Amino acid sequence: MRVVVVGAGLGGVAAAVGLHRLGHEVTLFERGAELREAGTGIVVMPNGIRALEALGLADGIRGHVMHGTHGGLRDWRGRPLLVTDLVQAQQEVETPAMVDRADLHRALRAPLPASVVRTATPVERLEPDPTGVTVISDGNPIARADAVIAADGIGSRLRDQLFPGHPGLRRTGRLDLRGMLARPAGLVTDLLVSQLVDRRSGAMFGLFPVGEDRLYWFTDSALRGTPPGADEARRQMLSLMADWHPLVPALIEATPPADIYVDPITRLAEPLPSFAAGRIALLGDAAHAMSPDLGQGASQAFEDAAALTRHLTGAEPADVAQRLLRYDAERRPRANRMMRAAYRQSRLTSQTGVAAWVRDALLRAVPSRLATRQLAALWNA
Ligand SMILES: Cc1cc2nc3c(=O)[nH]c(=O)nc-3n(C[C@H](O)[C@H](O)[C@H](O)COP(=O)(O)OP(=O)(O)OC[C@H]3O[C@@H](n4cnc5c(N)ncnc54)[C@H](O)[C@@H]3O)c2cc1C
Repeated sequence: MRVVVVGAGLGGVAAAVGLHRLGHEVTLFERGAELREAGTGIVVMPNGIRALEALGLADGIRGHVMHGTHGGLRDWRGRPLLVTDLVQAQQEVETPAMVDRADLHRALRAPLPASVVRTATPVERLEPDPTGVTVISDGNPIARADAVIAADGIGSRLRDQLFPGHPGLRRTGRLDLRGMLARPAGLVTDLLVSQLVDRRSGAMFGLFPVGEDRLYWFTDSALRGTPPGADEARRQMLSLMADWHPLVPALIEATPPADIYVDPITRLAEPLPSFAAGRIALLGDAAHAMSPDLGQGASQAFEDAAALTRHLTGAEPADVAQRLLRYDAERRPRANRMMRAAYRQSRLTSQTGVAAWVRDALLRAVPSRLATRQLAALWNA
């Protein structure tokens, strides 16, 4: 069966590998000039690791599973609010892996033969008819497929084409800065695997180890008006966090400006009515772009890729639409639940004033065992 995958991000590449290994004739179209993933670190949650395992793609990630003993939320000075026990989490459901985005993408795409990949090929639209789908780029037909997987990311134009009445993306009113740097020699800190929240400003800072020798940090704060450039965003963040735990401004200062990424956070304004339309399925951010607060975007994309691979095992051109409906029925409720939960988490961590004071008091009262169990429940598919 001929399958076209549009978009070679983490989700598209994982799906292309799964479908190629099934023996389908896969073509992966990517608008970029080369296959690559830019950016910093990424947390792959245990459910994402399990999905990669099902795709036979987890080898590269297993060595990066986090072995810290505690994580959770802290206040801006680093004092614990909600402690999660990673040892207990590991016993119940494993723990997340923290990896370099570029390394992860490289490991995922390694099994794809070069003949499958067509870079510098932006897909403009899809023209479905009763016997297949014609893929159009630059006004010309470039492929004919029995099934198309639209994995063209958060700004998906294929999503717009399939669901023209959908309101599309919405800004959350938050700005994200993130960076990666060499781990300072001899650094020992209990802030690792933690997120610090500040009830005065609603800002947040997270810190994770990447392997033995690097650190990944991210911040999230209110965005008013036009997003600032990288230098200005860094300056504003340093000023906002000047009286935080001293490690926070020190790490932001120590990160080379060129290694800092700035993004206004957007998400789908509303869940999509379906992840499938005839012979076309949506996957990853194209289907369920969510705010990054639960670190689930890529893990949900991997769950999509594993589910699609399962549903298209032994598929024939005649039964594709039926199988994609089953993919939609399996994936949409869970991914949409995650999207809503991520937004709730965003609102919780960005609270200010009395609501945030109450939040902090309540968080301090939650027993670590219960907090860990709730986290494990989220990671269980
Ligand atoms: C600040 C931030 C932090 C995050 N942290 C985490 C985290 O810790 N853990 C986690 O799981 N998730 C995280 N996420 C989310 C995660 O990065 C995404 O969910 C994931 O990368 C989505 O993968 P994707 O393959 O669906 O889309 P993308 O990675 O966006 O890939 C889409 C690809 O399609 C290509 N493309 C687009 N249009 C076309 C076209 N018309 N024709 C051909 N090619 C096209 C693009 O060039 C791109 O290569 C974070 C997101 C943000 C913004």
